[in-house]
Amino acid sequence: MAAARKVTLPKEVWELAGLFGEGQPLYLIGGAVRDILLGRQPVDFDFASAATPSQVKALVRRWADNVWTIGEEFGTIALLKNNVKYEITTFRGETYREGSRKPDVTFSDSLKEDLSRRDFTVNAVAYSLSEKIFIDPFKGAQDIKRRVLRTPGPVEQSFRDDPLRMLRAITFHATLGLKLSPEVFNGIVEHGNLLAQVSTERIADELVKILLAPRPSDALRLALRTGLSDYFLPELARLDIEQPVDYHHKNVLEHTLQVVDNAAPILELRLACLLHDIAKPDTREVVDGEIHFFRHELVGARMARRIMRRLKFSNELTDKVVELVKLHLRPHFYRDEVWTDSAVRRYIRDAGEVLPLLNQLVTADCTTLNPKIAAAAVEKQRDLERRIEEVLEKEDLMAMRPLLDGHQVMEAFGIEPGPMVGEILKGLLSAQIDGDLATEDEAWEMARAIYEDETGG
Ligand code: ATP
Ligand code: MG
Repeated sequence: MAAARKVTLPKEVWELAGLFGEGQPLYLIGGAVRDILLGRQPVDFDFASAATPSQVKALVRRWADNVWTIGEEFGTIALLKNNVKYEITTFRGETYREGSRKPDVTFSDSLKEDLSRRDFTVNAVAYSLSEKIFIDPFKGAQDIKRRVLRTPGPVEQSFRDDPLRMLRAITFHATLGLKLSPEVFNGIVEHGNLLAQVSTERIADELVKILLAPRPSDALRLALRTGLSDYFLPELARLDIEQPVDYHHKNVLEHTLQVVDNAAPILELRLACLLHDIAKPDTREVVDGEIHFFRHELVGARMARRIMRRLKFSNELTDKVVELVKLHLRPHFYRDEVWTDSAVRRYIRDAGEVLPLLNQLVTADCTTLNPKIAAAAVEKQRDLERRIEEVLEKEDLMAMRPLLDGHQVMEAFGIEPGPMVGEILKGLLSAQIDGDLATEDEAWEMARAIYEDETGG
């Protein structure tokens, strides 16, 4: 049993626990308990109890704002209270058939049994809300303190029961900085191939969590070192080739990992970083003793589409990532003197909605160790972004239709063509650009004011 700690939980958690009473008390379980012991604020709350799903439903019905029973056959009742979702699962001992994806769920009445079925000891600690104590049969609290991932039971059994746990270990390394115990590491090396049994959707969910972590590179390196990446992204290990050092680190894989870290945690951007040079191994050519990767951005865009389809990412996300990969070299050809406004406009038009992300990708793509080259690259990208702003501003102006035209003004004030008409129209347009004018009525009011001002009337 772990030492008691000051635990602050939302009042709803205590209210919910109060509904369960002493007979079949409610336990907080999983990630929330782990996060409390890590000193982090839990994001969601999962509970376990000996109560059966139908008992749970009856207990929470009046208190909850909404109750979902879609998970009932697996023992889970979900509910909403004050816009927070809570899940209560009946203690379970799951038995998995070899090679099958779906567990046969059997309900057991033992908390310890339930905890023994969890992925890692750090996630196998419960907090008794009735007794206010931690229940920790697998020394999860100690592992949290040591920041290490171990399985509650034998590693091999655990990974056979659910091979996704191997990838979850990599995820927890990325998101929480937890290390793999030697047993877990070796277990992944040995059983990585079992990941093929896991549904693509579950795998992709973990990849997303890894890519949105503050610094995904360490976890991706771990996936490479254990060989697990071969079972969800085999293209990654192939990037381990040399390239000329200009803007880039001399190893394509190392470069790629750094680019991913450099970028803000936006899913389409991080995916584009991961895949931007994916075709370099396939496009490598040596011409006159120099290494080139001709058209790697185009071949890479096609590969990115295939990879993202394989991982069942949405078409919308895939399209964005493919565009980013395809265009990632374009700004490298930017030269202030050479790119006319229409060249800049073409770049803006081709990038379309991914323009801001493309600019970020290009900035992240510079991993040279040479400070002079790095500074020049940053300067060039800033310059391009300035030009983009300029061109967009001009375009806005061109797109803006004046609220009144010269004929209307001349007719209304009974004046001939001349500087007075120009003054009025100029005044109206600049007020419109500044956002001070929106309607025709306002325009007339202002036109009259300028006219009176000019005529001294
Ligand atoms: P996060 O902070 O990412 O939500 P979490 O640990 O809460 O992390 P969930 O996917 O929400 O992860 O799962 C809740 C709990 O269910 C876990 O803490 C763990 O105890 C258990 N669990 C989840 N997935 C598995 C699995 N594949 N095998 C065994 N136990 C699992
Ligand atoms: Mg969770």
